[in-house]
Amino acid sequence: MAKVFVIAEQRDGRLKKSTFELLGASAAAGNETHAILLGEGVAGLAAELAHYGANKVHVADHAGLKFYTADAYAQVILGVVKSSGAEIILAGHTPTGRDLMPKLAARLDAGLASDCTSLAFEGATVKVRRPVYSGKATAEVEFIGSGPKLVSMRSNALGVPKPDTSKTAEAVSVAVSLGDLKTKVTEVVKGASARPDVTEASIVVSGGRSLKTAENFKLLEDMADVVGAAVGASRAAVDAGYRPHRDQVGQTGKVVSPALYVACGISGAIQHLAGMRTSKVIVAINTDSEAPIFQVADYGVVGDLFQVVPALQGELSKMKDH
Ligand SMILES: Cc1cc2nc3c(=O)[nH]c(=O)nc-3n(C[C@H](O)[C@H](O)[C@H](O)COP(=O)(O)OP(=O)(O)OC[C@H]3O[C@@H](n4cnc5c(N)ncnc54)[C@H](O)[C@@H]3O)c2cc1C
Repeated sequence: MAKVFVIAEQRDGRLKKSTFELLGASAAAGNETHAILLGEGVAGLAAELAHYGANKVHVADHAGLKFYTADAYAQVILGVVKSSGAEIILAGHTPTGRDLMPKLAARLDAGLASDCTSLAFEGATVKVRRPVYSGKATAEVEFIGSGPKLVSMRSNALGVPKPDTSKTAEAVSVAVSLGDLKTKVTEVVKGASARPDVTEASIVVSGGRSLKTAENFKLLEDMADVVGAAVGASRAAVDAGYRPHRDQVGQTGKVVSPALYVACGISGAIQHLAGMRTSKVIVAINTDSEAPIFQVADYGVVGDLFQVVPALQGELSKMKDH
């Protein structure tokens, strides 16, 4: 059994699915599972963390933590983990986790395994697997030496457990005094999209250069709406200005691991595969039967996406209605 600290991630008072995955995995292994919750006006979220497996929630509720900065968040988290004897520290491999975990590891002089797709607890330590070389190989990583072990996990890799609303956790308030900060976020201007983020969604429908215009992505958005999916894009589509960079999947975009990934008119370049090949089920629609995307696809449709996508959407709508 290990003393595991999960860095809880919330945005606008809503906890992220990746946090629930980490809590569930730690609790299922019988670990003493702590959550560290930071933000402003977030104390009310402690109960939900308990439902997913936290035994104890450290709540740092402070106006200076309203917006994430590595500076302020690291200061508070380091205070908690150093005084509590954390053995393992877990975070989602989200934009926040990618930014924060290396800083924590450096400040703790500890090891970090990032972007992991599986983990196995062994006593006070943990073994992980992580894709390397753009997903062409998988490395198994063990921690050696003393000090806490830090792991960032790819979203959707562990699965969200069923919440148990009868579970409760001890909530402790963390005294926050933020001294000597180098950065401060004064305003966050949100994008217009109300769709789920590609890293969080369980279904992602992505399009490539073949969509030809930004307007044509409406075709994918309409299908995505039927199944509650996020809309992603290849770099070629993003570079052409059809989609914002936040939707880009791949080596220089986001890494996704949804239950279902639908690639529409995407060739399957190695840099794109690096961002989606760990998806549970991959469907590819492409006019070229030799396109590399078919090598990783579980189901392939050789055809014109402008005909296949509306037909698929029609069938999905029918299934939804029944
Ligand atoms: C350092 C580096 C980093 C990179 N990072 C990324 C990254 O993060 N993400 C990423 O995606 N790429 C990345 N790339 C670019 C990558 O190499 C490819 O150029 C890119 O993925 C191609 O995008 P695409 O598949 O949309 O376009 P294309 O390669 O042009 O492929 C279009 C595909 O659509 C098919 N098609 C055409 N018309 C239709 C139709 N009507 N119906 C169905 N199918 C059709 C074609 O047969 C073809 O397979 C990176 C490249 C480099 C060098």
